[in-house]
Amino acid sequence: MKANYIDGAWKASDQSIENINPSDISDVVDRYARAEKRDTEAAVEAAVKAFPTWSRKTPQQRADALDFIGSEIIARKQELGDLLAREEGKTLPEAIGEVNRAGQIFKFFAGEALRMAGDLVDSIRPGVAVEVTREPLGVVGIITPWNFPIAIPAWKIAPALAFGNTVVFKPAELTPGSAWALAEIISRADLPHGTFNLVMGRGSVIGNAIVEDSRVNAVTFTGSVDTGRRIAATCVGRMAKFQLEMGGKNPLVVLDDADLDTAVNIAVNGAYFSTGQRCTASSRLIVTEGIHDRFVNAVTERLAKLVVGDAREAGTQMGPVVDGRQLNSVREYIEIGQSEGAKLVYGGDRLQLAREGYYLAPALFTETTADMRINREEIFGPVASVIRVADYEQALEEANRTGFGLSSGICTTSLKHALHFKRHAEAGMIMVNLPTAGVDYHVPFGGRKDSSYGPREQGPAAIEFYTTVKTTYLAG
Ligand code: NAP
Repeated sequence: MKANYIDGAWKASDQSIENINPSDISDVVDRYARAEKRDTEAAVEAAVKAFPTWSRKTPQQRADALDFIGSEIIARKQELGDLLAREEGKTLPEAIGEVNRAGQIFKFFAGEALRMAGDLVDSIRPGVAVEVTREPLGVVGIITPWNFPIAIPAWKIAPALAFGNTVVFKPAELTPGSAWALAEIISRADLPHGTFNLVMGRGSVIGNAIVEDSRVNAVTFTGSVDTGRRIAATCVGRMAKFQLEMGGKNPLVVLDDADLDTAVNIAVNGAYFSTGQRCTASSRLIVTEGIHDRFVNAVTERLAKLVVGDAREAGTQMGPVVDGRQLNSVREYIEIGQSEGAKLVYGGDRLQLAREGYYLAPALFTETTADMRINREEIFGPVASVIRVADYEQALEEANRTGFGLSSGICTTSLKHALHFKRHAEAGMIMVNLPTAGVDYHVPFGGRKDSSYGPREQGPAAIEFYTTVKTTYLAG
């Protein structure tokens, strides 16, 4: 059994869960400890105790630790990528890319630890100087989803540690393997005991215990809107700082003047890669009249050729859905779409391959409208809907007609429309002639409306959440 990591020691649990490979459900990746509430309490206590020591380390010591972690992740990206693909189901190249990105994130924040600058300002009073500095928050609770099982933990753990906080980390139960491997690397980074703690277990038990614990100064969460709302309510109740990254219903606008091949590549990548299980996936394809039929035909042709298979097999372009529950939920949405009057022009069937897994043929709906549930709710699977519109103005209106606001894309050769869209699309990230999914690690990430709450993650913007500002007045 792979154990939890609390106060610098590996701690087994009475209970454990099996981590199942969605590409081959007879393959058990490993067994992982399932912590109890008292383990979380011990982890928080250890993190509280470690805070004075860790927060007083020099920036160089923190940078060195993060650099060590980043270097090892990158050096082992093939092996860790294989584990990630095996437990989550994204293709091996995607998984290796995610691992590499996790390593780059640690290295980026190693640098950020050294750039924790402040401001010195003249006071309005004579003889007085004002110094504005940043300090760590204390204990940060980190709760992550299954779809990016190493990159999302990395982009929360790295800044938390870089700026001097201590960490209690709870990964999603569906994908504990990558989280455990990351924790194992961190356990060898020479951090004071209790600086970093891994507590694996159920969200309703372990996640909730972290959120409710008054000794946890801040909570950073990525996951569904429902869980995010619950966490927000608890954090507000006890005045804890929190940050939420949640779902998306991301539009990709395709205008008549778009290059067809480019648009099709972007749509297929954005909607179906990583089996559509990305918060930034293009689930609404908003297409103007003049290119609509050509676009739909070309996407359908591409989907017919898309190789669905074992995530780790060479040549696979789309792996399985992450588990049976998610598969059923996606299939239910396909039935909902059909019952709402949308036309299923491709896919949607469960596929039986040589080894039993949660395989689904990528699905494309046409003749859909904004009021349909398939266009309002996040499906989080390989399903996209085409919304036909008359012109750019209507496309923009449709793009913004959603409760989410994470990423918004446009395919066009018109500078005028690209610039107008950049200014008026209601989303945190805008993609011009690029897929809505796929972002850099050194710039801010986040959205608007129901997609995000609180300061941005990643890049230099991350400091906002993981530190608090102190203003000091100095007279001679
Ligand atoms: P989820 O069900 O909300 O779970 C996310 C995390 O919260 C898991 O670790 C889960 O634990 C935990 N959790 C569940 N109930 C909890 C509670 N009552 N208190 C505290 N923690 C609790 O989401 P998911 O299904 O794993 O992930 C998919 C969602 O994440 C999608 O909506 C997707 O759009 C979103 N996402 C957003 C971003 C972004 O940056 N905006 C990125 C990736 C994914 P267990 O799973 O172990 O129960």
